[in-house]
Amino acid sequence: MSNIFSLEYAQQQDANDPIKHIRQEFTIPKQSNGEEEIYLCGNSLGLQPKLAAEYVNDELSQWAKLGVKGHFSGDYPWMPYHEFLSEGFADLVGAKTKEVVSMNTLTANLHFMMVSFYRPTTERHKIIIEDHAFPSDHYAVESQIKYHGCNPDESMVLLKPRDGEETLRDEDILQAIEEHGDTTALILLPGVQYYTGQVFDMESITKAGHAKGCKVGFDLAHAAGNIPMQLHDWNVDFAAWCTYKYLNSGPGSVAGCFVHERHHSDKDLPRFAGWWGHDKDSRFKMENHFIPMESAEAWQLSNPPILSLAAIRGSLDTVKKAGGIHELRKKSLQLTRYLRQLLEQELPSDINILTPKDEKYSGAQLSLTVNLHGADGKQIFDAIEADGVTCDFRHPNVIRVAPAPQYNSFADCYHFVRILKKAIAEAAA
Ligand SMILES: *Cc1c(COP(=O)(O)O)cnc(C)c1O
Repeated sequence: MSNIFSLEYAQQQDANDPIKHIRQEFTIPKQSNGEEEIYLCGNSLGLQPKLAAEYVNDELSQWAKLGVKGHFSGDYPWMPYHEFLSEGFADLVGAKTKEVVSMNTLTANLHFMMVSFYRPTTERHKIIIEDHAFPSDHYAVESQIKYHGCNPDESMVLLKPRDGEETLRDEDILQAIEEHGDTTALILLPGVQYYTGQVFDMESITKAGHAKGCKVGFDLAHAAGNIPMQLHDWNVDFAAWCTYKYLNSGPGSVAGCFVHERHHSDKDLPRFAGWWGHDKDSRFKMENHFIPMESAEAWQLSNPPILSLAAIRGSLDTVKKAGGIHELRKKSLQLTRYLRQLLEQELPSDINILTPKDEKYSGAQLSLTVNLHGADGKQIFDAIEADGVTCDFRHPNVIRVAPAPQYNSFADCYHFVRILKKAIAEAAA
């Protein structure tokens, strides 16, 4: 067998990749020496699709040429612009088009979803989240609990991995739902964990939560554009995701949101409303009697930022060119498997991979810790960054590396391990 740790081998894998041409749809940042960066940071900020730039420019010129008439003219009028994103979002998360909408930003959407789906009572007031949730999710949950006059010490259930383990076991999540379910109003977990890269079994969590009468929502920040999902069939109540990580739609771009259709005509759901959630046929009668749309769009507040939606449309069209999320996942599995094999083969004792090895529980990202006496992860991180790698470091000690299937290559994985190996050898010398 040929040695997998060689540029020739990696380039051969790239030559066999059926979607290798998609990399050319992106602008890859350059190092100061003019070479392309080894950009493995799509879990944090995805690269710019050329179509995103093109579509944003289209809308700038529509605005320049048409002014207010741009709301109703051109190929992509602004009035219904968010509707042009529904199909792409629905494919990514496994939903009906009316169950998804682009609006606000991720944390804002989590709050708006909790307004509707976290309705604590004296008997049922808890929210189950992870102990190591992304800080924004933790703050959102804690502040919702306080907003309802409850006490986070009593109402927040924090799931922790077992002592000595890095990731949560399915059976422990289900056990916590069994134990706290009767007093729990909401379960809010990630689709993919930001720190460890662990994929959660959203289907079984939703089923177990519903069996106990809880609402179940997911934060898909690291899942959207990374792994395929079936939110509709899994009966998930709601979900929210940002679009600037694996969805490559630009820094701070507008987020996505899913509300299962069984909630669309529930007149008793509380909601913080705005005019963009009003029935579109009568919205402009300005009558001040709120008639919600019978879709996830009912949760919209404002007319959305079109320049951001244009970037998202460019990104979603790029996903479509690649053949969709299932095609991307196929490549992603191969790419991440190759990266893991190289790390295990070349750095068996210096690197520990926190991300589960079972591919059911992992997406694109691998989270690494460096076990080197006298050198910490940050020192190694700084060294590889100086050598052309862009990935990220998360406190206290994790290097996150994410080969994104749309623009990363097997050669990127090879170069990353080559550069990492060199940095570790130099730190140990
Ligand atoms: C990236 C990320 C966020 C960021 O929230 P914004 O509202 O987009 O700033 C929140 N939660 C998780 C889990 C994330 O990964």
